[in-house]
Amino acid sequence: MPDTALSERTADVIVVGAGPAGSTTAYYLAKAGLDVLLLEKTAFPREKVCGDGLTPRATKQLVSMGIDISEEAGWLRNKGLRIISGGLRLEMDWPELAAYPNYGLVRKREDFDDLLAQQAVKAGARLYERCNVGAPITDERTGRITGVQAKLGEEKTPVVFHAPLVVAADGNSTRLSLAMGLHRREDRPMGVAVRTYFTSPRHDDDYLESWLELWDRRGPQARQLPGYGWIFGLGDGTSNVGLGILNSSASFRELDWREVLKAWVAGMPEDWGYTPENMTQPIRGAALPMAFNRQPHYTRGLLLVGDAGGLVNPFNGEGIAYAMESGQLAADVIVQAHARATPAQRELALQRYPKVLKDTYGGYYTLGRAFVKLIGNPKVLQLCTERGLTHPMLMRFALKLLANLTDPTGGDAMDRVINGLTKITPRA
Ligand SMILES: Cc1cc2nc3c(=O)[nH]c(=O)nc-3n(C[C@H](O)[C@H](O)[C@H](O)COP(=O)(O)OP(=O)(O)OC[C@H]3O[C@@H](n4cnc5c(N)ncnc54)[C@H](O)[C@@H]3O)c2cc1C
Repeated sequence: MPDTALSERTADVIVVGAGPAGSTTAYYLAKAGLDVLLLEKTAFPREKVCGDGLTPRATKQLVSMGIDISEEAGWLRNKGLRIISGGLRLEMDWPELAAYPNYGLVRKREDFDDLLAQQAVKAGARLYERCNVGAPITDERTGRITGVQAKLGEEKTPVVFHAPLVVAADGNSTRLSLAMGLHRREDRPMGVAVRTYFTSPRHDDDYLESWLELWDRRGPQARQLPGYGWIFGLGDGTSNVGLGILNSSASFRELDWREVLKAWVAGMPEDWGYTPENMTQPIRGAALPMAFNRQPHYTRGLLLVGDAGGLVNPFNGEGIAYAMESGQLAADVIVQAHARATPAQRELALQRYPKVLKDTYGGYYTLGRAFVKLIGNPKVLQLCTERGLTHPMLMRFALKLLANLTDPTGGDAMDRVINGLTKITPRA
């Protein structure tokens, strides 16, 4: 008699974590006909600490996955970015491009992640919720990963899952990568972000709002912090209000970010409603792993996608688009490898994944690391935030560069400059 429990827990690929990276990977693998297990430690719908803001890059990914992003389906569209700095405000629409839509979206992660996971299931992925993955199972001789141990359900029943390939999509903490010996690179930038929700009359804002000046006011002289605050309306009566800071500032480890957030919103007009009584959730935070801070992205049967691979954009702290894009890229490499006849050929195909990531983002992230260093200098930071908005042309260029929104071929002069720079910059 066939052992059904065994076949249920064996697949072509195991994806650990059903955030945007994991669900996207599982979706594309299942679509291509592979048998995929998607293992998630929580149960949907569940909260995830995030700004809930989606640029046109992320919007494009949702369209590609066939997600209904209509307003009737609960999405709030945005036209662009409103920047507030140096006493000025500038509204800039998302660029008109052939490669990306000209609008972004906002959606609470509670629904967003659930929708993506369901889309993966519709495509054929087998989702296990309340499945907390622990140690990898490895082949003693080769060190390759051949499966994972997990605790399943309320009872935390120990189970094992097997597959010749495993994708680590378990986010910033990525216990799986750590257990496979892949540690964080200390030479890469890191950010931290905190956020909360307020009921507010500004809940249906059709621009994402970004405040470039955040201050450490502890000493006799206020120090500007390298990061920004955001206000993203959700269209459901609430706004997501938060801030993200880079670790290139001297005060990075000393500050209580919740207090910085409270002090920042306390200075806003009262009729916006960002007051303690209107706060609907506690302030929560998490790290932003940037610019490939964990490598290699493929080793011994394990591929890293999204935050597990440190894919957050160092220019703007955006992570969802890169989580989804890396999921799609990883799935494509796996599908190609799966069709190869011998283990050696499969391995050759899999080794392509880190190269594909570097070709796609390497030059851009290297530029981003230089940017992080530069704005870690308080004088440069102050100059940019005080004067930047008085040069609208420069700000349009900054929007394209910081949001990584250019047409890869053709495009305007700005696109060509940015694409040229990312091509000639070393990919590390
Ligand atoms: C405060 C804050 C605001 C942010 N705002 C934005 C924003 O507005 N826009 C944007 O684009 N990005 C934003 N980001 C970044 C974004 O949240 C991340 O880059 C994105 O969630 C990465 O997706 P992921 O799928 O790689 O990881 P995650 O979203 O972290 O998903 C990982 C999944 O793996 C599961 N998991 C973890 N461990 C295990 C395990 N052992 N077994 C099984 N499952 C496991 C988790 O439960 C989770 O579901 C923000 C981040 C923070 C902290």
